[in-house]
Amino acid sequence: MSSPNGSTPPADPTAAGEGVAAEASVPPRSAPFAPPTLSLYLHTPFCQRKCPYCDFGSQAFARIPEAAYAAAVGRELEVWRETLRDSRPLSSIFFGGGTPSLLAPETVAGWLDLIRRLWPLQPGCEITLEANPESATWDRLAGYRAAGVNRLSLGAQSLDKARLAGLERPHDVVGILRAVEAARRGGFSSIGLDLIYATPGQRWKGWRRELEAALALEPDHLSCYQLTVEEGTPLAARQGRGTFTPLKPGRQAQLFQRTRAWLARRGFPPYEISNFAPPGRERRHNDLIWRYGDYLGVGAAAHGKWTVCGGARVEIRRSANHRRVEDYLQAMARGEPPGERWRVAPEEAAAECVILGLRRAAGMDRAEYARWVGGDLLSRRGEEARRLREVGWLEWNEARIWIPEAGMVRADGIIARLA
Ligand code: SF4
Repeated sequence: MSSPNGSTPPADPTAAGEGVAAEASVPPRSAPFAPPTLSLYLHTPFCQRKCPYCDFGSQAFARIPEAAYAAAVGRELEVWRETLRDSRPLSSIFFGGGTPSLLAPETVAGWLDLIRRLWPLQPGCEITLEANPESATWDRLAGYRAAGVNRLSLGAQSLDKARLAGLERPHDVVGILRAVEAARRGGFSSIGLDLIYATPGQRWKGWRRELEAALALEPDHLSCYQLTVEEGTPLAARQGRGTFTPLKPGRQAQLFQRTRAWLARRGFPPYEISNFAPPGRERRHNDLIWRYGDYLGVGAAAHGKWTVCGGARVEIRRSANHRRVEDYLQAMARGEPPGERWRVAPEEAAAECVILGLRRAAGMDRAEYARWVGGDLLSRRGEEARRLREVGWLEWNEARIWIPEAGMVRADGIIARLA
């Protein structure tokens, strides 16, 4: 449908069959509540070594405590099932990290067997595993595929020898090519590549060559993240000492816009700030999180979000597990919750809808926002929204609010003004 000013909203690639009615009006707050789709995130907090820019929950181990960790995650899965008594089928399962490809295929197979006993899976359940090239050997990948993993997300990061060395990754470009080949031989037809750009001194010409090399590997998904300096990382310390200089913001913005336009012309339109896929190949798992779906977070450093419905009472809860592997294992051994669990206030839930939903090209569901605060975002932030719309950085129709392509380069600022 057309928006009030006649512009056409971007299609919502994942709306069909997922309970998001693109033509729906904002419902009154008393509308019956259907709990959102449920998915599962399992974190593997092990890495061969720590990358200088990384602030993810991961640790380098000379020898990973795989058996103890596998058992603790198994126990946590059972606890979640008992506590939630939730019989919603899982729409996706995501093995993220860290480096899940450091795990033996038997560990992943054991977790998947247990998950299938605890929850029904939706038909075509998306099961993704993140792999790094240095550990993505053919036998491992074939083992994950045989266990039921149907999508691989490969942390290639760069297809330029010098840039890859600059990121201090333990693999080289040949390792990426080998890993993709091993994945195909291992039975994966769905392979996504994660890339990092906007590294010091990077120009469009060089980055475009990397994108061309990436597309030549025939992935069905690309995640392109800009290098950011996170507090507390070695990269931040180097910046403080003057030995690392990030790319200038203007150059970063230029690369961001050219990347989106270039990939869209090659059949990989952006469906989120950093994610690109041919229509129909978008990752269900991440999109569900941006659409404020529910996901259980299992394992050290994992986060989760779920909806509790009891009569007229509906609330959002969140969990954040201990980041350190040792703390997680000890808590599980003592039979304690392996981290914090808390209730999200309605105002906070509404802000989260904005923060997550406006990342998507298709935008945020207005009805979801209204559910938490009993009012529409356009009533609560009307003046700000109209100002943004006047300059072409925000758009809406009856069902959704989104940031048009022209505004995406300043998405963080726009979201901060509306959340
Ligand atoms: S491999 Fe990934 S998770 Fe591990 S340290 Fe590097 S960026 Fe972080």
